[in-house]
Amino acid sequence: MTSPVYLDYAATTPVDPRVAEVMSRHLTLEGTFANPASRSHMPGWLAEQAVENGRRQVADLIKADPREIVWTSGATEADNLAITGFLRANRDKGRHLVTSIIEHKAVIDTAKAAEQEGFDVTWLTPQTDGSVSPGQLAEAMRPDTVLVSLMAVNNELGTINDIAALAEVAHDHGAMIHVDAAQAVGRIDLDVGRSKVDMMSLSGHKAYGPKGIGALYVRRSPDLRLEALIHGGGHERSMRSGTLATHQIAGMGEAFALAANEGEADQARIQSLRDRLLEAIADLDGVHCNTRLEASVPNIINLGFEGVDGESLLMALRDIALSTGSACNSASVEPSYVLQGIGVPRRLALASLRLSIGRFTSEDDIDRAGQALRTALIGLRQRAMP
Ligand SMILES: *Cc1c(COP(=O)(O)O)cnc(C)c1O
Repeated sequence: MTSPVYLDYAATTPVDPRVAEVMSRHLTLEGTFANPASRSHMPGWLAEQAVENGRRQVADLIKADPREIVWTSGATEADNLAITGFLRANRDKGRHLVTSIIEHKAVIDTAKAAEQEGFDVTWLTPQTDGSVSPGQLAEAMRPDTVLVSLMAVNNELGTINDIAALAEVAHDHGAMIHVDAAQAVGRIDLDVGRSKVDMMSLSGHKAYGPKGIGALYVRRSPDLRLEALIHGGGHERSMRSGTLATHQIAGMGEAFALAANEGEADQARIQSLRDRLLEAIADLDGVHCNTRLEASVPNIINLGFEGVDGESLLMALRDIALSTGSACNSASVEPSYVLQGIGVPRRLALASLRLSIGRFTSEDDIDRAGQALRTALIGLRQRAMP
């Protein structure tokens, strides 16, 4: 049995072998294993150096100052820290948050928890392509709005938001903006100097780094205060306590350096692979592109298939590792809230698949996937005929 073609890079990426090699040097006695907070000996200093090197690599990718990077366990924690930490620290200024109904669950559930705490949330419905327009955001802004949280790239659709334009609207109304950029690293330009974003969530494992590590970019500004969610030794300027995971940080740093150097070339190759896949199924009827290609990153494509049901389709496609909606929801049979959020009819949303391509996808993988899709669709539709 051949192993399935992996087309679920938006759920997680494999660690790049060059990243794994760097990580392996920060674990054992011979390596840089010491506690980076140990200030009294050489092994501790070396570990601190490794952490600071990773911090600089992550900062470089988004053109930030290394001092603006706070390590977290992933983008989920970064989203929690940005939203909850900011709202709690700025209670006296206002209690209104603006976000959208198609954000990642890490943002949606954090915003819901804030509602329980007495904050007021406006939930924007994005346009049908999955983006939030600056005009829409402007209409939702109020005098008591303190924070806007919108993603850079949607994880199910691939849609890109114009974060620079959204940041301008937030600032014009006296609010700050947090951007979840977990899916954007190595896919689009994330220069925080240009976009003027105030906080940005990042994840290691969506960009060929390890799982369990992420970061929150926090602009150095006197008015940007965050209340810590995790208390302890006062690490990370007291915003996030806990012994830093040197190997994870070194790995994420290396992954982000690779993304900075190779992201553009990766994306160009991936775009031609995506077009090859679309070409392979172009003659089939009843295939809807839920992703608006001109508004999206090329590595994610969401397709809806008429006349088949999602479960049977997934069963027929066992040779491709892909996703129906986001992985966090794959245990439930509810259609994706993201697809419903942009107005895809329930039936079609239930028969939709997200295919996501990555650095290690080959033309052969794409051809196998295209063939499997054709066979599955034609077979299922024939069976469905009366
Ligand atoms: C994967 C993902 C997250 C969660 O990141 P973790 O590092 O797994 O916690 C958050 N937001 C988006 C958009 C994602 O794709």
